[in-house]
Order: sequence, then C-alpha cells, then structure tokens
Amino acid sequence: MKVPLLDLKAQLDTIREDVKEVVNEVLESTRYIMGSKVTELEEQIAAYCGARYGIGVSSGTDALLIALMALDLQPGDLVLTTPYSFFATAGVVSRLNAIPVFVDIDPGTYNIDPGQIAQWFADNPDKIERVKAIIPVHLYGQCADMDPILELAETYNIPVIEDAAQAIGAGYPSKNGLKRAGSMGSMGCFSFFPSKNLGGIGDGGMVTTNDAALAEKLVKLRNHGSHPKYYHALIGGNFRLDPIQAAVLSVKLKHLDAWHAGRQANAAYYDAHLNVPGLTKPMVAYQRDYHIYNQYILSVPERRDALVEYLHARDIGCEVYYPVPFHQQECFQYLGYKTGDFPHSEFAAEHTIALPIYPELTDMMQQYVIEKIQEFYQ
Ligand SMILES: *Cc1c(COP(=O)(O)O)cnc(C)c1O
Repeated sequence: MKVPLLDLKAQLDTIREDVKEVVNEVLESTRYIMGSKVTELEEQIAAYCGARYGIGVSSGTDALLIALMALDLQPGDLVLTTPYSFFATAGVVSRLNAIPVFVDIDPGTYNIDPGQIAQWFADNPDKIERVKAIIPVHLYGQCADMDPILELAETYNIPVIEDAAQAIGAGYPSKNGLKRAGSMGSMGCFSFFPSKNLGGIGDGGMVTTNDAALAEKLVKLRNHGSHPKYYHALIGGNFRLDPIQAAVLSVKLKHLDAWHAGRQANAAYYDAHLNVPGLTKPMVAYQRDYHIYNQYILSVPERRDALVEYLHARDIGCEVYYPVPFHQQECFQYLGYKTGDFPHSEFAAEHTIALPIYPELTDMMQQYVIEKIQEFYQ
C-alpha cells in the first residue's frame, strides 16, 4: 500500500470538469489581471470568514507583507510573534527591516502562548512603545487563544495580524461568540498554496479586515500604491491575485466545509485507533469541528527521525513541520537568541511529525499508517 502525505489528484478527480470549465472561461475572456473573478472570490472569502473585506493578493507571504506595510511598519520597529511557524511569518518582518521578537508556544497546541506575551510585556516595559504588531499563527489549522491576545493588544494599543495561512474556516469560541480565523485581529492573512485546505493551482493569498480604511489602503498597496491610476501617494508593489487562481478557488470553496469534515473524521480515527505509549496526539483546544487539521501532528517520545525514515521506506508520506525554530535559523542569528531560549518550540521541532490527513484518505490507508507506527515502537 502507498499512502502519500497529500494527494491532490484524488481531490481533482472530484472537481476536474468544474475546474477546467472556469480555467477555460478565464482563458477565453482574455481578462488576465484582476476583474470579476477576483472580486467574487474576495466577497466569498470575506463572507466565509466573517470579515467585512477581502483583498486578494499574490501569496500568503505577500498577505503578511502587505498587512505590515498597511500598518506603516518602520525599520527598527518590533513585532511579537512565535518562533515556531513557517518561515514567512518572521521573514516578512525582517524584510521590512523591522525586528521579529519571539515568545514561546504553548506545548499543547503549538500556538503562541498568551501568558508568554504577557510576561514579555512585564519584562520589557521600556520596549513596549516600539511594538507595532503582534502576529499569532493559527498553526496546523487550530486558532491561537485569541481572547487574551486581543486583550493584551488592546491594553497596549497594538494591532494584531492573524497568520491564518493554515486555518481558513477554523473556529474560535471568543467571549463575543464563535469567530472564524481572520476575523478577530486588525487583519487576517490567508494562503492558497496548493497544500493548504483551500489551495489554488499555483500561488495566491488574501488579506481580510473589518476596517474600511485598512481595506482601502491594502487595495492601493497591492497595486503599487496607485490611486487613481499612475498617481502614487503610497509605495506599494505588485501583489495581485491572478483571476485564474480566483476562479479555481471559488469552485473549490464550495467543497471546503465537506473537506474539513473529512479531515476531522480522519483525525478522530487516528485519535481513536493509534496507540503508542508516550505518544501525544493533537490537542483539541476548543472542539473538534473548530480545528480544520491542515496538519495532523504527533509528538513522539523518541527516535523521531528514525520513525520518519521507517515510514518513508514503507511508502507512507510524513513530514517534519518545522525542524528548526526561527531563533535557531542561520539567517536570524543576528537577532541574538540562543538555543534554550524557547524550550517548547525546540522540543516540538525535535519531536513532532505530520501524518497524512487529507480528506480522501481511506480507513484502510489510515489503518496501514497506524500499524506501521505501532510496529516501529514495538
Ligand atoms: C503557507 C504559510 C505561509 C505562506 O504562504 P505562501 O502562500 O506559501 O506564501 C505563511 N504562514 C504560514 C503559517 C503558512 O503555513
């Protein structure tokens, strides 16, 4: 048996004709930049996430970059974020010559720990004024604990940018009722990279916001700060979303809730049947159907790298997300952190592994994965 980490062909098989039709429609329209396909997707994503505005952009990375640009982030400004995420979360901060400041994760959810943010503020009263944003990441498809983060942000008057690249549709039971990822902070940033739960046939992204002034600024920044055409009050860039991607994403969005349900059912299956002493399954911080399981992450007690090799040799796809936390990355050595500064992130980087969780996975395939993991630890 062969069990890939992700099988986009299995997904395509269920929607091929619809995708081909809209791709062809864009092709024949000769409208290859912006236009109604992009506008439609922006409205659909905003409505889906419970945000007022959606601004389509070229990638999840560019969504984060343009969100920081919209806040007028300046060289030397500080941005609080997690050391344990995909590179882009911190990379965009450095690209604007601002300084990423890391605070450790909650070891149960792998998301930034609001208690650690509060501790950082308590320890660094002299630096608070320089903090221009907080970027929590809803890692693996489960929302960070937003209420306390938003409360701290409000206390110090700092905008929150949600990195929701892995969490479109993820729920959070806020004190004001159920919210979806990307609707809680000043801005939410999404990626349509093909391996996300809503993935295009290439790169794409979206920024969501409830703030009309920010939305207007994001629209300008996305297109070189141009408004009206050829008049530039702002310096932006080319961060546009292609209509061909927007059209495909609109087709896929109709299936997204069913795909989430498939992933949740697969997670429940692993949770019920995978049993190895000392092994930690993903924590359900709120409730199962608020977690969209972009990844199903195990924390294994020992011999993680040998397990990865063992599974690969048996045609089981698995991956380590992420083997090196930001503070241990070569490119961030100039920030002055050292090993031991963020023990929970370092532990996660050494002990976790992502298993296949995509919706089309069968019980038989999952049973095979479970057998091989249990066999390895016997
Ligand atoms: C995928 C991802 C990004 C970047 O998105 P791209 O579309 O690949 O640029 C940013 N942050 C996180 C947490 C991601 O998983």
